[in-house]
Amino acid sequence: MVQAISDINLSDKLIKWFLSNKRDLPWRKTKEPYSVWVSEIILQQTRIETGIKYYYSFIKKYPNVKLLAKSNKQQLLKTWEGLGYYSRALNMHKAAKQVLLNHGGVFPKDYQSLINLPGVGDYTASAISSICNNEKEAVVDGNVLRFISRLLKIDEPINSFKTKKQIKKYLNEKISLKNPGDFNEAIMDFGSTVCKAKKFLCQSCIFSLDCQAHLSNTVKNYPIKSNKIKPVKKEMNYVIIISDDKKIYLNKRSDKGIWKNLFEFFLVKGDPMPITKSMVVKSLSKKFNFNSNKLRLHKSIIHKLSHMDLKINFYMIEVKNNGGKMYDFSSLNEIPFPKPLKVIIDDFV
Ligand code: SF4
Repeated sequence: MVQAISDINLSDKLIKWFLSNKRDLPWRKTKEPYSVWVSEIILQQTRIETGIKYYYSFIKKYPNVKLLAKSNKQQLLKTWEGLGYYSRALNMHKAAKQVLLNHGGVFPKDYQSLINLPGVGDYTASAISSICNNEKEAVVDGNVLRFISRLLKIDEPINSFKTKKQIKKYLNEKISLKNPGDFNEAIMDFGSTVCKAKKFLCQSCIFSLDCQAHLSNTVKNYPIKSNKIKPVKKEMNYVIIISDDKKIYLNKRSDKGIWKNLFEFFLVKGDPMPITKSMVVKSLSKKFNFNSNKLRLHKSIIHKLSHMDLKINFYMIEVKNNGGKMYDFSSLNEIPFPKPLKVIIDDFV
């Protein structure tokens, strides 16, 4: 149960701290909802340092929602390449079209309109509407949940819907009426730079006399999380096929998975995994003419996703060009690839 400790002046203390510790981030120079939205979507699952780089290139290429709505999806995915979770970019494309259709091309800044856009949840709608429209909607992300769970010593799992809802309610009562946007940015920064997951800075913390976990010397026990599901192990096998006239085979993924619309090498399909070299040869020989003795394992990598540990083996072979799906190396810079394949592609360009 989230118990409000009424005498914590959360809002004033956080905003005072924020004014002298505010990080100089490019999206903080504007209250224009389109730019704030772009930054918030990029920062989901992305470190700030990486996010800054992508934010600049995205805004340069798509400076407003109209250009984004009319953009080419393949080029958009290329701009997003390396960030992962590509559905974010595709949802942005859909949202931009919706803004053109339903809002006359003016990016909305009120919570109710924002929450109806594809890819926008409570966290993003709260961030944009508080920063750009002064709405009193508190943000609740992982950093905020950790900080509040320690401050109030919440003995409930923070990854439960019920606890998140209670923390949101508590913060909506505490949020600054005058500067809700500053309050939200302050609490996110505070969680990520002071009340950190491991190296928490209790000795210099402005809440050390309020914080229930610190006062009871139990910070390490918080936040409480219900059992996390262990990531499953999976193996994939690709063959990098180079033709005798120096082109490379690529296939555009059309399935519904996280790499939909991105390009990949020749994928060896079939169970059981892991496969043998002779299975790779068998799969390839249905389509290509080649000397099987020259098939070799180029590299194996482990790609970690939140729900999966993916081992990817990359084989390599030279084939006779049979005229299908072969691309010039010079076109690789224009084609979007999943992150683990991009690492391999970078060896060729
Ligand atoms: S005293 Fe420590 S645990 Fe409590 S809010 Fe501050 S940094 Fe977090």
